[in-house]
Amino acid sequence: MQVNRIAAPLKLLTIAFKTGRVTKKYPFGPPLITEAFRGAISIDPAKCWGCGACVLVCPPNALDIIFEKEKIVIEYFKGRCIFCGMCADTCPANAITVTKEFELAATNLEDLKEDVVHRVSKCAVCGKPFAPAAELRDVMKMHPITEEYANICPDCRRKRTARAFGMRFGASI
Ligand code: SF4
Ligand code: SF4
Repeated sequence: MQVNRIAAPLKLLTIAFKTGRVTKKYPFGPPLITEAFRGAISIDPAKCWGCGACVLVCPPNALDIIFEKEKIVIEYFKGRCIFCGMCADTCPANAITVTKEFELAATNLEDLKEDVVHRVSKCAVCGKPFAPAAELRDVMKMHPITEEYANICPDCRRKRTARAFGMRFGASI
């Protein structure tokens, strides 16, 4: 028992001497940023659809989706971000990059917010705003749906489909 009390610290000292200094002098020297290091995210407005999938998965609610009359805003608040990268894994448009940025101190909270603003398309039938224009644009590129169907809201689409079925099978819907 006595031998262990002496041997254990000696073993630690030997390891420490072999390893050398591992702490960094940051902020007086450069920080240690490894390959796997995750910092704040960056959203590419040109790729983002405004779908809100990232908002749903964000654990600390650092992302928000704000619906306004004719626009949808994706708001990123760096002050709440835990740099987990789940939003980047989820984004269907590959619009999110996890950067290595971590020096985020600011004197104004507004400086920690970033917005991506989307125009909302209006339904060609009822005129109701229903989906971000960027999402419709890319969905139309990916799937062979006609502009006639893509530009109408789900309610009007349902009614139109029901009417088409009714005409086909002779019922009046
Ligand atoms: S496209 Fe990506 S970044 Fe834009 S709202 Fe959807 S999940 Fe978020
Ligand atoms: S990295 Fe994590 S915490 Fe930060 S915005 Fe994305 S999902 Fe939210």
